[in-house]
Amino acid sequence: MEMHTTTIQEDKGDGIFHKAMNSESKPVWIPGPVIIGAGPSGLAVAACLKERGVPFLMLEKESCVGSLWRLKTYNRLQLHLPKETCKLPHMPFPPEIPAYPTKKQFISYLEAYAKHFAIEPMFRQEVQSAIYDARMGFWRVQANESEFLCRWFIVATGENAEPVLPDIEGISDFKGSLIHTSRYKDGADFEGQKVLVVGCGNSGMEISLDLCNNDAQVSLAVRDKLHILPREILGRSTFCISTWLLKLVPSKIS
Ligand SMILES: Cc1cc2nc3c(=O)[nH]c(=O)nc-3n(C[C@H](O)[C@H](O)[C@H](O)COP(=O)(O)OP(=O)(O)OC[C@H]3O[C@@H](n4cnc5c(N)ncnc54)[C@H](O)[C@@H]3O)c2cc1C
Repeated sequence: MEMHTTTIQEDKGDGIFHKAMNSESKPVWIPGPVIIGAGPSGLAVAACLKERGVPFLMLEKESCVGSLWRLKTYNRLQLHLPKETCKLPHMPFPPEIPAYPTKKQFISYLEAYAKHFAIEPMFRQEVQSAIYDARMGFWRVQANESEFLCRWFIVATGENAEPVLPDIEGISDFKGSLIHTSRYKDGADFEGQKVLVVGCGNSGMEISLDLCNNDAQVSLAVRDKLHILPREILGRSTFCISTWLLKLVPSKIS
């Protein structure tokens, strides 16, 4: 495999990552991990590395931290799980935040977290490829016009950052508007309209409620039988009870 190791630059803590972006496209040697994604997972990893004094480079394709929460979620969203189970390492939610923070509160928490640990992602850097060079023992990471070389490569790109639309027969003949939940913002946009929500997970259920509250005529398509559980049982989070039970008894019983 062809390598361009003669032009490697090294970050010495003087912001050369940023300078390198403006210079010609020479590979930049990162003396620590490259992290892709400035969502909660990437931030958590970055904070833990900071705590241990390990240098790293974080690349994020959008222009903010927590972009999934900021750009691809609906307005009425609150965390579905209690804040104790969603906090990131080394920094709990402030006590005044409710048990189930709103989307806005969660975004503020992520921003405060990045600030507290002085995490400075390189924004608008979309990673296009990452190739491991087994002979040299490092990764070649290509993002926009830049190439980075590193020994450790951490993928924190999320499990639902990209919309997935099922291949539904005849869908191209549908004359109405068709959107993925990542583009849905508010039920008020659908007032008085007939809406079919496909899928009955947390988002499908909550968006159906939002539409009903805004006088849309809603139908919900559910593929299979499903279990609907309350958020809390006897004042305790159902999620916390089930994870606790899973530790004690086999999953079939719990
Ligand atoms: C509606 C909704 C409600 C949810 N509610 C909860 C909840 O209550 N509790 C909970 O724990 N979880 C919840 N989740 C799950 C959610 O996935 C997590 O909260 C969390 O956002 C996952 O963090 P992450 O960092 O792994 O991924 P993400 O938040 O998806 O972050 C991934 C980041 O990687 C970036 N990225 C992706 N590809 C590239 C690339 N090629 N180059 C550069 N950057 C890239 C993206 O822009 C993004 O910023 C919810 C999700 C949704 C959609």
